[in-house]
Amino acid sequence: MSERLNDEPQHPKPALPTRRDALMIGAGLLAAPLVASVVPAAYAAEARASVGNGPFPAHAYGATSATSTLGPLQIERRALAPNDVLLDVLYCGVCHSDIHTVRGEWGPTPYPCVPGHEIIGQVQAVGKAVTKFKVGDIGGVGCLVNSCSTCESCLADLEQYCLNGFTLTYASPDSSKAGHTLGGYSDKIVVTEHFVIRIPPGADLPATAPLLCAGITTFSPMQHWKLAAGQRVGVVGLGGLGHVAVKLAVARKADVTVFTTSPGKVPDAKRLGAREAVLSTDTAAMKELATKFDLLISTVPEAFPMQPFINLLKLDGTLVNVGAMNPLEDVHGLGLARTRRSLAGSIIGGIAETQEVIDYCTTRNIKADIELIRIEDVNGAYERVVNKDVRYRFVIDMASLKDGSQPRS
Ligand SMILES: [Zn+2]
Ligand SMILES: [Zn+2]
Repeated sequence: MSERLNDEPQHPKPALPTRRDALMIGAGLLAAPLVASVVPAAYAAEARASVGNGPFPAHAYGATSATSTLGPLQIERRALAPNDVLLDVLYCGVCHSDIHTVRGEWGPTPYPCVPGHEIIGQVQAVGKAVTKFKVGDIGGVGCLVNSCSTCESCLADLEQYCLNGFTLTYASPDSSKAGHTLGGYSDKIVVTEHFVIRIPPGADLPATAPLLCAGITTFSPMQHWKLAAGQRVGVVGLGGLGHVAVKLAVARKADVTVFTTSPGKVPDAKRLGAREAVLSTDTAAMKELATKFDLLISTVPEAFPMQPFINLLKLDGTLVNVGAMNPLEDVHGLGLARTRRSLAGSIIGGIAETQEVIDYCTTRNIKADIELIRIEDVNGAYERVVNKDVRYRFVIDMASLKDGSQPRS
């Protein structure tokens, strides 16, 4: 796929009619009044002028080291290749992974780091071979922006398990040019069309953004382990991922229990449709629920003792970890073996499945509970995420970046 991205010169001569023809810039913008109104005309004109002549500058917010806060940066986006889509970013969710990566908590991070992988944007320009989008459409970008497209996993629509290494939306070696990828805390992003999700008309755009990571990450294991109506499922951790997991499981008519360490979240769990919320620190309550669950989905972003949860699984039950990406703690061999339990992991989802969860949620009016913030408030938002003080996802209104905002302490 990297060959495909580079099959056109990166610095085409601006006056070439063929190149002008190659970009259907502006076409359809006037024909789509609903979405065109999202982007000011002057700004759209600037975007039209800035692409097609090679790499172009974009405004972003990012960190320059593991200990620095996020602030304004100027970055460069690549010129559009034939299969590329240029999105004017409207909204971007704040995922806990952003914080882990910015702070170098998941291994060395390349800086500057521009995070953001819950991106909703409006198509500003498309390459000549693009068929999935036209200018003015709304597109979404999740955690992946490229993969090899030829391996067994990619051919099975499982790009998240690409055997040759996928390209993450940020802080990943960039397969299209030198350097590393820069994410959605930015006013513009260029992504190959296969990795851009169609956002259906009528979607609540800011509240749909988190579904591109939190939604697919919890939807995918429910699909793979075939969570069915009436089955008992436990959601461990009620945060950005967990609250979407509850909504998705309730939509499948599963019998949902939430496990949390925050007493303040118990009423929320019930409001979201869970049968009950259990404080996982309550050992008596945990003991009472032994061998009751078909499926547990753990969304907790740090390792924690897992055996008390494994004990809740019935025969052939599975605990799927989608949150902790560091060494797991306290898993007992006999505890797994005695009822043929499985401990499994799952990471985001493929592009087809991400489209499926977006369509599924839009049809059923399932969306994230969000707090919309301006970009200059992102550092404070990070602290609140770490302190579990968000109900339940921050989403950045990227119009605030276009104001040239400085970070607020
Ligand atoms: Zn994420
Ligand atoms: Zn692959």
